[in-house]
Amino acid sequence: MRRLTKVRPYRERVAIMKGQMDGHYQNSMASLQRQGGDTAKRARLRENARSAGKVFLVGAGPGNPDLLTLRALRVLLEADVIVYDRLASAEIVALGRAEAERVYAGKERDHHCMPQSDISRLLVALARQNKKVVRLKGGDPFIFGRGGEEAQVLAEHGIDFEIVPGVTAACGVAAFAGIPLTHRDYAHSCVFVAGHLKDGSMNLDWQALCRPNQTLVVYMGLLGLPVLCRELAAHGMPTSTPAAMVQQGSTPGQRVVVGTIACLPQRVAVAGLVPPALTIVGEVVRLREQLAWFDGHETDVTLYASL
Ligand code: SAH
Repeated sequence: MRRLTKVRPYRERVAIMKGQMDGHYQNSMASLQRQGGDTAKRARLRENARSAGKVFLVGAGPGNPDLLTLRALRVLLEADVIVYDRLASAEIVALGRAEAERVYAGKERDHHCMPQSDISRLLVALARQNKKVVRLKGGDPFIFGRGGEEAQVLAEHGIDFEIVPGVTAACGVAAFAGIPLTHRDYAHSCVFVAGHLKDGSMNLDWQALCRPNQTLVVYMGLLGLPVLCRELAAHGMPTSTPAAMVQQGSTPGQRVVVGTIACLPQRVAVAGLVPPALTIVGEVVRLREQLAWFDGHETDVTLYASL
């Protein structure tokens, strides 16, 4: 009975989080402005000496709450403030205490998002208010997550911080898609690259990416998929090389489109995949036929929500 009364607020929190993920930017900016900016080194040191605040840069994994680490869950349950990204799922953001303040710091591609410098300033300001701050990021904070930059700012300002690793999309998504990233028969190495377009092209070391017996994982590569496949073929990768794109891996929204580097872009366009999506290129993709296991079921978070 007691447990049920605790579960219901969690469900309400998830609903609220889902609604609020669109409207939080303005509030975040206003709260940042209220904090003001104090850059004088001495004032900073004086403030820090009094401050018991700490920032946890936390990886939330690829979206499925079951892929949080125990450390991530522990710090979420203790946080005074949760500053979260678009990729941190509503179910996970809602796991924090009901009374914790939530600040939304990111939106999807092409929409407004809080500039990186503002996010870093906000983290510094919140820690100086003696708060336990969880900076919640999708996947792992140190893999294409700008966690390094945020940690640098915290270090420069003398703020106490901790890095909580997360399951990066490459690992979590590949597992839920039934694609082993390495396999003794097919791939002995694995490369992670960022595939966003800059002026319509991708600045990557194509020769290195075309090596045989290697799996290539491309983050942020949905828009650039045609360019990626074209360049790989142009640099000598056989056009029959298997490739897959996985949308919203590990969540009920997971969809997987499989093909070769010759046909994947067209298949993805026809399927209408949406972000976040990850590309996996290499012979290992063939194994999905035998190893696919995830049917997109919901994760039951009752246990965590009742903690
Ligand atoms: N720090 C994150 C990556 C951030 S970059 C990590 O370690 O995973 C954002 C990119 O991650 C997306 O464009 C997409 O390529 C990938 N991604 C994150 N979550 C994903 C998911 N559930 N399914 C597919 N791709 C995902």
